[in-house]
Amino acid sequence: MKAAVLFEPKTPLRIEDVAVADPAPHEVLIRTVAVGVCRSDLHFVDGIYPHALPTIPGHEAAGVVEAVGSEVRTVKVGDHVVTCLSAFCGHCEFCVTGRMFLCVDAGVRRPKGAAPRLTLDGQPVAQMLNLSAYAEMMLVHEHACVAIDPEMPMDRAALIGCAVTTGAGAVFNTTDVTPGETVCVVGCGGIGLAAVNAAKIAGAGKIIALDPVPEKRALAEKLGATHSIDALSDTAADEVVEITRGGVHHAIEAVGRPQSAATAVKVLRRGGTATILGMLPPSEKVGLSAIDLLSGKKLQGGLMGSNRFPVDIPRLVDFYMRGSLDLDTIIAERMPLDRINDAFDELRKGDATRSVITFA
Ligand SMILES: [Zn+2]
Ligand SMILES: [Zn+2]
Repeated sequence: MKAAVLFEPKTPLRIEDVAVADPAPHEVLIRTVAVGVCRSDLHFVDGIYPHALPTIPGHEAAGVVEAVGSEVRTVKVGDHVVTCLSAFCGHCEFCVTGRMFLCVDAGVRRPKGAAPRLTLDGQPVAQMLNLSAYAEMMLVHEHACVAIDPEMPMDRAALIGCAVTTGAGAVFNTTDVTPGETVCVVGCGGIGLAAVNAAKIAGAGKIIALDPVPEKRALAEKLGATHSIDALSDTAADEVVEITRGGVHHAIEAVGRPQSAATAVKVLRRGGTATILGMLPPSEKVGLSAIDLLSGKKLQGGLMGSNRFPVDIPRLVDFYMRGSLDLDTIIAERMPLDRINDAFDELRKGDATRSVITFA
């Protein structure tokens, strides 16, 4: 199968002919139909986060089940599925306490010494984030995908696999936005826009979007932001505090930079909570000052929108199908796999929202 392989950080991905194994008992073979280009991929491609090499990035995908292992009961051949990197074992402490997005059990991967899922000229190719979706086929654990309504358009379904699950999940799962409360979203890429849209669905009173790019601020307003502000303006945080008469109840950071995380804390009202979704460089820290603590401010991570994806993803599909979740606006461009490096360049520039790789 054709796949985009990363051999060396900071070098372009190369399209190679990669072999994919037959499904083991709990594995599912999926023909990839669409895969979103997410900023987290760029962190690995640009070497900011380390990864075993060679590898195939890509973790925001939708496809059709081609074959299943002998023990698979959750999906069947022909099902339309969305994948999720939050593969869960189902029996560890995190899974049985309902926090399956925290599961790191090795049981979702092949055991050491077993034949690898992916090989190139007989040599193993490391699977990235349990998925490796920049490929015509994905071989994944059955707990890394969920069947969806076959009426759902696949290019938009793909986005639910990471950006929308993360952004909307931050609102629905990680925080407890109640109707009328105020929300500030820092950064209006795919994740931030999904958070804006989810805040609207959750009934937030004022929704304030911060981004340096005017086009992205316009998209945020289309998706439900009641106000939008240039994130690079010196007075941005003060304006948020002014508009909300004291700061927001919930701030959601969807960029992955220390300054935007600091902004998320700064725009909070007393007792408010900042949720950091972005992947900051691993050496960075975010903090609360003495005054922030005395104001009862809270700061938390929001890994993958604290998802229970087998439940959340079909619900998000429903929101799209009945017109309350706008995924059409989030997609900037559709392109074939051999343009993957162009898609990364777009992302590095920072002005496009979401490119989606589609397979004919
Ligand atoms: Zn992602
Ligand atoms: Zn687990």
